[in-house]
Amino acid sequence: MSREIFIYNTLSRKKELFQPIIPSKVGLYVCGPTVYGNAHLGHARPAITFDVLVRLFRHLGYNVRYVRNITDVGHLEHDSDSGEDKIEKKARLEELEPMEIAQTYTINFHEAMRRLNTCPPSIEPRASGHIIEQIAIVKKILEAGFAYISNGSVYFDVEAYNKKYHYGRLSGRNLDDTLSNTRLLEGQEDKHSPFDFALWKKASKEHIMRWPSPWSDGFPGWHLECSAMSGKYLGEEFDIHGGGMDLLFPHHECELAQNTASRGKGGVRYWMHNNMITINGQKMGKSLGNFITLDELFNGTHKLLEQPYSPMTIRFFILQAHYRSTLDFSNEALQAAEKGMKRMLQAAADLKSLKTEEAEAEKEISEIRENLYTALCDDLNTPIALSCLFEAVKIINSVKEGKRKISEGDREILTELFTTVLTEILGIADENYSNSAGEKRVIEGLMEIIMKERAKAKTEKDWTRSDYIRDKLNELGISVKDTKEGTEWSL
Ligand code: ZN
Repeated sequence: MSREIFIYNTLSRKKELFQPIIPSKVGLYVCGPTVYGNAHLGHARPAITFDVLVRLFRHLGYNVRYVRNITDVGHLEHDSDSGEDKIEKKARLEELEPMEIAQTYTINFHEAMRRLNTCPPSIEPRASGHIIEQIAIVKKILEAGFAYISNGSVYFDVEAYNKKYHYGRLSGRNLDDTLSNTRLLEGQEDKHSPFDFALWKKASKEHIMRWPSPWSDGFPGWHLECSAMSGKYLGEEFDIHGGGMDLLFPHHECELAQNTASRGKGGVRYWMHNNMITINGQKMGKSLGNFITLDELFNGTHKLLEQPYSPMTIRFFILQAHYRSTLDFSNEALQAAEKGMKRMLQAAADLKSLKTEEAEAEKEISEIRENLYTALCDDLNTPIALSCLFEAVKIINSVKEGKRKISEGDREILTELFTTVLTEILGIADENYSNSAGEKRVIEGLMEIIMKERAKAKTEKDWTRSDYIRDKLNELGISVKDTKEGTEWSL
């Protein structure tokens, strides 16, 4: 843990040295999906960004508690608090229970995340499982005088809050500007002011997802769940809160206000936001016909796609841009990423059989290693990290072509870069085997045992047994070839 990590903090608007609240521990909260549709491109970027952050911290010896929620209630159509609940609307249209909708799309999200080789969170709490905690926060905010009850609903009193604290601190707004930019929406007559937001909403007669509360049978406001679940699992003050830039306002701004109003402090040391993805230069949106789900991307079934793109290609592509820059998806850019990744994985595979010679240790190689770690610790600069790995690829290829010599020590450094940085931290693995290096090791180990058993059967002329092993492996998609040199297998 000798390395220092710098993080760009949205709250202070500058890069800061990361100093955890408890030494060697990191508490990270990332806003998860609202589960009312299949996982899409917009989910991939925060998932991969914060996955690399978690992997980097773990690699450096930190104990990370990574909490990512599932929003299964309270996220209304018009973003903060008007319109129908997104999950309940989908349920009504499909004639299902809201929780069936939430379950279906939670499974879809998990599967997409697994294929993108992201580590699962340490805790994945659901909003609907934390109603008691949310009600407790509403009570505290009411007691502190920063909320009011109106017709069975409870609203956050932004103006009262802003007199004591600064509402807009995180997103860089002033209340006066916000006020002049806020449209009056219909059906919000319960609110004293258009920029107040719901902490608790009274449910209409037809609303299915409802819980009893001191104010009405109803449901929590969307922003409240993240204050409740982050506080419950990471403490009233924790290290990092992450999410996409689209959540900065109003979601995170309101979360910060709720924390401050109920606890007297913001509760988050570092706020991190990944930038957005555009498609052929356009914002992604259902109305624009460029809304691409991850399944469509993996299968190549969307009309904008010229081919399928593997989960690893998507991952590699996302890491080629810094998380705070916008990232534009196009077939050309994805194909370039695919080609680059294959070249890198090929070099990593060639490294194993690279001939080493008596040679001096080269400064260039140790410098690549140093630059790589420096880049990763400098606010997660993955594009620089990948360009360092491409420098290593060049060296490997010139050694392979006999244009350059390499010592055993240098080869070991390069091996470490590919296994530790590329596979373990950046999470890029050879898809021919599996998405995870660990699984690959297990498969190779198991195959070694099986192939030994088969070789034994063959020397004992037990053909039934050796054929049985071959046929069963074939059924699993593993082909076994007997050659003069012995037996080879491939997936
Ligand atoms: Zn959230």
